[in-house]
Amino acid sequence: MSDDPKPDTAVVAAGRRPEWTAGVVNTPVWRASTILYDDVAHLRAAAGKDTHHRLFYGRRGTPTQWSLADALTELEPGAEATFLYPSGVAAIAAVLLTLLSPGDELLLVDSAYDPTRAMATGLLKRMGITTRFYDPTIGAGIADLIGDRTRAVFMESPGSLTFEVQDVPAIVAAAKARGVATILDNTWATPLLFPAIAHGVDYAMLACTKYVVGHSDVMLGSVTAAPGRFAKLRDTSFALGQVVGPDDAWLGSRGLRTMAVRLKQHEASALEIARWLEGRAEVAQVLHPALPSHPGHALWQRDFRGSSGLFAFVLDGGDEAARAALIDTLHHFGIGYSWGGFESLAIPVDPARYRTATTPDFAGPLVRLQIGLEDPADLIADLERGLDAFR
Ligand SMILES: *Cc1c(COP(=O)(O)O)cnc(C)c1O
Repeated sequence: MSDDPKPDTAVVAAGRRPEWTAGVVNTPVWRASTILYDDVAHLRAAAGKDTHHRLFYGRRGTPTQWSLADALTELEPGAEATFLYPSGVAAIAAVLLTLLSPGDELLLVDSAYDPTRAMATGLLKRMGITTRFYDPTIGAGIADLIGDRTRAVFMESPGSLTFEVQDVPAIVAAAKARGVATILDNTWATPLLFPAIAHGVDYAMLACTKYVVGHSDVMLGSVTAAPGRFAKLRDTSFALGQVVGPDDAWLGSRGLRTMAVRLKQHEASALEIARWLEGRAEVAQVLHPALPSHPGHALWQRDFRGSSGLFAFVLDGGDEAARAALIDTLHHFGIGYSWGGFESLAIPVDPARYRTATTPDFAGPLVRLQIGLEDPADLIADLERGLDAFR
């Protein structure tokens, strides 16, 4: 392979090994539970060995899963390896359980995806692991929160409900100085827009369900580890019995090949719509980091290579019923969870419910939009009808 292919080239080429593809373009679906050995000596020789990229037993994967995992590693310059999970939440659970034991403390960003919060306040708490929530704008100030029991900092930037941009390099530097591991939920940017490992993050997590899959039809997650960090993640994940079905891994690889071009369209359309919304009297604020009006814009400009298709806007006053009227009027936006697929979505979000360290101060209710691959003119016409209904 040539040196350092550009990201758009990497998504096309990554993870395609001739010994796995045997001439076809995409790594085929290898379905397996049992792997047959030539004789007892062969079977015994395989036991206890590192099974990375070696057929051993179906739970350890086949070339179909390895191909996607390797592709995601290749997209993160400087990374060691990637483990796949059957969902983004499973990936979050695995990396937290890799790093935390009873008595430890986790620092978790207050703007985190709500199931991440729920894991900290539920499962982790039950295991005797405490969590302190921190202000997403804390930056280097995280150093003041790091105590003797702190083992990990979990970041999500931008926050997927309220879109605060974190100063990841400053947080990473403070954590490294104290020997604390860092995890980033990088689902919004993907490694194409924010190469997390190159920014010093120890574990870069993706809900591949979103942009990697890209077609709203598969649940998938991943964690990519920095050098020296993979073995413990892999061992914990094996102990948890984590394995992704080969058909889902194959769909993930298939989606990945077009991720760069899809992201460019998501970015262009989302920005056009975000700018249009900024000019509307019914809209108090548009929460999109690529807009100069966004409080995290300078950080976003410094660290990111672009923006994706998910953002929110704040209505200028109005109640629950008016917001519902807006969303219910939309024809081209589905109403549903998740995002990152080819189709647009709109949902009401109520961030105050999920905050404990900070109190977001918004002028009215929020609507979160996932901008899909439709013509943005149709989406704008739709939102215009929605805002009329809101009024
Ligand atoms: C969707 C999402 C997840 C969880 O992914 P699933 O595949 O749905 O489990 C994690 N983080 C963020 C930011 C997400 O949007």
